[in-house]
Amino acid sequence: MAATPEQPAPAAPRRKAGRHRGEGQWALGHYTPLNGNEQFKKDDDSLNVRTRIETIYSKRGFDSIDPNDLRGRMRWWGLYTQRKPGIDGGKTAVLEPEELDDRYFMLRVRIDGGRLTVAQLRAIGEVSRDYARGTADVTDRQNIQLHWIRIEDVPAIWEKLEAVGLSTTEACGDCPRVIIGSPVAGIAADEIIDGTPAVDEIHDRYIGSKEFSNLPRKFKTAISGSPVQDVVHEINDIAFVGVVHPEHGPGFDLWVGGGLSTNPRLAERLGAWVPLHEVSDVWAGVVGIFRDYGYRRLRTRARLKFLMADWGPAKFRQVLEDEYLKRPLLDGPAPEQPSSRWRDHVGVHEQQDGRRYVGFAPRVGRVDGPTLTKIADLAAAHGSDRLRTTVEQKMLILDVEPDQVDSLVAGLEELGFQVKPSPFRRGTMACTGIEYCKLAIVETKARGASLIDELESRLPEFDEPLTININGCPNACARIQTADIGLKGQLMLDDEGNQVEGYQVHLGGALGLEAGFGRKVRGLKVTSAELPDYVERVLGNFQKEREDDER
Ligand code: SF4
Repeated sequence: MAATPEQPAPAAPRRKAGRHRGEGQWALGHYTPLNGNEQFKKDDDSLNVRTRIETIYSKRGFDSIDPNDLRGRMRWWGLYTQRKPGIDGGKTAVLEPEELDDRYFMLRVRIDGGRLTVAQLRAIGEVSRDYARGTADVTDRQNIQLHWIRIEDVPAIWEKLEAVGLSTTEACGDCPRVIIGSPVAGIAADEIIDGTPAVDEIHDRYIGSKEFSNLPRKFKTAISGSPVQDVVHEINDIAFVGVVHPEHGPGFDLWVGGGLSTNPRLAERLGAWVPLHEVSDVWAGVVGIFRDYGYRRLRTRARLKFLMADWGPAKFRQVLEDEYLKRPLLDGPAPEQPSSRWRDHVGVHEQQDGRRYVGFAPRVGRVDGPTLTKIADLAAAHGSDRLRTTVEQKMLILDVEPDQVDSLVAGLEELGFQVKPSPFRRGTMACTGIEYCKLAIVETKARGASLIDELESRLPEFDEPLTININGCPNACARIQTADIGLKGQLMLDDEGNQVEGYQVHLGGALGLEAGFGRKVRGLKVTSAELPDYVERVLGNFQKEREDDER
């Protein structure tokens, strides 16, 4: 079923609207935009802004940009204005959006499946060097983000990226974002199934298509056939998780409705087994439900998880089968528990073909353009043309002959990347934070990097899987609710009554084994200055008091 505000689907089933009358659900005939975002999306398809960027804005400059494009539609091409430098976190909530806007942009390059060739990584490195003041961050959704982008340079950047098969299409916005894929798809010796063909098919059929360019909110996809379950499937809008059906063999278990932010919710299984060749059709059916039945009245209730919370998995599956796929899905088994607590593939591992893949750890995802170029050169010098990014802000170099591994590891060390990092370097993630993000209240990346240094020197013997996730505001870009130690940035008073940066602490979250959200520890906040002491204390107590192999 297809429905757009311009072309309502005549056959949309009539349902009792009940208490959700007025949620702006298209399938119930509610096409009148109920907020400013819905209005600008209806006024003009957001993908159309590309033409204006190329023909008007890049030629006439920042001041020529229509406000609805600047703060709305340009996201569909991966562009956000970044935070004006020098505005402290106390002003985040009190200033108007335009007062926080810098005249420069963040640009997100989508890397579906986290797959990069040497040429693609070099291209990103060169774009960073030439147009982004050398900035580059590996995100926790396998993308790479650049900063300090001028609108005048955007067409040249697109030309450079698209020449090597990369794009920024629908990297942000209310549309299908990057498709997360297992970083070891097609190479891991223990793989259940390679989901790469499904990643490609969804990308080629639907990304940049106006069929799904106006969704109620962002839509996140994850596909992994690895027993490690390395795509944080529990917190995506849709996820396909590798599983072996007793009669039909390897395929995917379907999960729907996960998401974090202010109302975190783990995705739920629909109990359906999907063969590889049907993944893109099932994906389109679920996105169709979201487009047509998703709530469009309040941005804070628009993610698919809210519809799932109201419908439940049984009704969701029924609507998917009856109205979208027009056929029943096969029942299937649940996947096994993941085979490891570390799911980032850091270290040296054997591939199916006997070669090796080498995973290494940038600190909190921060790299830079010249370094990306050096990583590309290093991979090429060791016979590799393939790299991957992970959802833990890490990177992999694939296809390394065994006798090349030591030299590659030494080369990575010279660039500052460790293949056997401490648990702190390996397990700490940080979002963009106050350096560039307009919503941020506190610093994150530099704080995370210094915390790693402190913990490495204070606890050199600590050797447990551990995740420390740092957010710069109450949003959840760095997944604080799913970390052993989650730190949510906020302003607070120190002992002398001064307003300082600090964090609300969440403890005991996890994905994979024993998935669940961390508990907010009532009243427990730490100032940035106290953070290393606090984490050291928590880990010391944990080591003293843990039972058996308790997390
Ligand atoms: Fe920005 Fe907040 Fe997301 Fe961090 S968590 S990147 S501060 S919106």
